[in-house]
Amino acid sequence: MRTVNAVAAPSATEPLIRTTIERRDVGPKDVLIEIAYAGICHSDIHTVRGEWGEIQYPQVVGHEIVGVVTEVGDEVSSHAVGDRVGVGCMVNSCRECENCKAGLEQYCYEGNIGTYTAVDRDGSITQGGYSTHIVVDEDFVLRVPESIPYEAAAPLLCAGITTYSPLAHWKAGPGKKVAVVGLGGLGHMAVKIAAAMGAEVTVLSQTTAKHADSERFGAVAHYATKESETFDTLANTFDLIINTVSAKLDLGAYLGLLRLDGVLVSVGAPPEPLPVQVFSLFNNRRSFAGSSIGGIAETQEMLDFCAERGIAPEVELIDADQVNEAYERVMSSDVRYRFVIDASTI
Ligand SMILES: [Zn+2]
Ligand SMILES: [Zn+2]
Repeated sequence: MRTVNAVAAPSATEPLIRTTIERRDVGPKDVLIEIAYAGICHSDIHTVRGEWGEIQYPQVVGHEIVGVVTEVGDEVSSHAVGDRVGVGCMVNSCRECENCKAGLEQYCYEGNIGTYTAVDRDGSITQGGYSTHIVVDEDFVLRVPESIPYEAAAPLLCAGITTYSPLAHWKAGPGKKVAVVGLGGLGHMAVKIAAAMGAEVTVLSQTTAKHADSERFGAVAHYATKESETFDTLANTFDLIINTVSAKLDLGAYLGLLRLDGVLVSVGAPPEPLPVQVFSLFNNRRSFAGSSIGGIAETQEMLDFCAERGIAPEVELIDADQVNEAYERVMSSDVRYRFVIDASTI
């Protein structure tokens, strides 16, 4: 075991504090990573505040991790000391169910082992990336190409893959019209990736305040969802809508924007059930779907795609002392577009 610095939540109601945690010894298939940067995901905040269920405290969160390999186990073959690597939302899975065998570990029937708050194979609770080091099985460690700016790479491990996976699955590309609902951490990556795939991208945001940013990220149009005429103007328009917001959504209104065989995919998770009028699915043979992060192979594909196309998240770099303030700013949507913690300050 080694003791490393971390920033942890002591309870659901107290601010995060500096502390130390134990990391397991490097096993034969493990990689020790010295963390350089860790992104702050909205899920981190919901989790530490107990909003997604009770958890054990103290808890370290963070599942957008990049760093450098500093030690490898005897049987490790895919990573070497000095490599720039990343870790996303999961650190293991059963590896035997049909979804794992298909490379879709995020949909493991046993439940994938999350990077934080999950019960690890040794019975301990996994602790996330707001820390100086982490030990992870090599099969759940990604290669982060050097051409991706180091401090901007971390959010690709959650925000990037969460949007890339449905865009790839539902074949965003030339000739396809894609709408992105919400221009936050997830939404701005959805716009950049969909545009790079060749799709015609429209942003649907509450107001037009971020119109210039939408265009800078590659969107051709930006509409305010507060204006009811938006839903008339854009009726029967899109092949694919990616909903990135966690707030309650009028599903019928958004389904009405889909053309024939169009799909509305939610990657944002409102806490309460959403009612759907089935007639709005009959029209244009529409679908309503969900999607969760991506498999390890697809996450690597996403990183390589972003490196080739020169795509990276927009980030605001902070010190460990600014995490609580950053949480408040995330909650009030006052971030353009992702906070990243400089792990050297932890
Ligand atoms: Zn996340
Ligand atoms: Zn499995």
